[in-house]
Amino acid sequence: MKENFPLNLGSNPPMVRFSKVTKRYGELTVLDSLDLDVKQNEIVSIIGPSGSGKTTVLRMLMTLEEINDGVIYVDGQPLTHMSQNNLLIKANEAHLRKMRNNIGMVFQHFNLFPHMTALGNCMEAPMHVLGMSREEALARSEELLEMVGLADKIHEHPARLSGGQQQRVAIARALAMRPKVLLFDEVTSALDPEVIGEVLNVIRSLASEHSLTMLMVTHQMGFAREISDRICFFYEGKIAEEGTPQQIFEDPQNERTRQFLSAVL
Ligand code: ADP
Repeated sequence: MKENFPLNLGSNPPMVRFSKVTKRYGELTVLDSLDLDVKQNEIVSIIGPSGSGKTTVLRMLMTLEEINDGVIYVDGQPLTHMSQNNLLIKANEAHLRKMRNNIGMVFQHFNLFPHMTALGNCMEAPMHVLGMSREEALARSEELLEMVGLADKIHEHPARLSGGQQQRVAIARALAMRPKVLLFDEVTSALDPEVIGEVLNVIRSLASEHSLTMLMVTHQMGFAREISDRICFFYEGKIAEEGTPQQIFEDPQNERTRQFLSAVL
């Protein structure tokens, strides 16, 4: 029972709120009473050393694993909990399933269905999870695949697409669910250098032409700096420093941030 956390965040809530979220694996505390807000239409990048808990933040939002303490809210509603008799109790599977539909994720390794075409990959979840009609799912998927520059590849299977093309299908597939929040987990790290640009271009155009809330874990510092509204520097499961790209990259205040940036830039 969580008596100290509100049942919802009222009107005009942040799109995502981590409220004192702790995640442990055995003895290891990976997220340490983390507070993090992402506003509607904000683009936030998480940077930091390996093992600092960056990917865990995204995994918690995808409800891939349980948190040990604290509450996560999405669009003002608790994600990890639900209310019963005016108290928050741990969410059941049905609540998690419903809330999960608000969140889209693009993974490092694409995770496309190999036996389906690009179009099939995009249509699958809207039809089978949201109950969208075949016609509507088809029209939306075609539109999205065109938007990511793959109008001529819609009938190809993943094996016949380059890594960059597969990742663009994965972005279209995530958008097909009309998520409120889009998560990107190191989406360029498995790509050959020559195709990284085409994936970043798609994300860049999503950021500028569509109002989307995005939370991104990235090693692409230049890109994070260019498109983010805010940068969070993680260290040992906490936000050690956050600010605008200009603040973080040009005038970091925290010694850890300075060390990290001087090693990666
Ligand atoms: P980052 O994305 O910043 O590199 P992660 O969030 O992936 O860091 O991981 C944070 C820490 O949690 C690491 O020390 C990692 O080894 C540990 N960790 C992640 N997943 C598991 C797991 N399923 N079981 C045990 N430890 C894990």
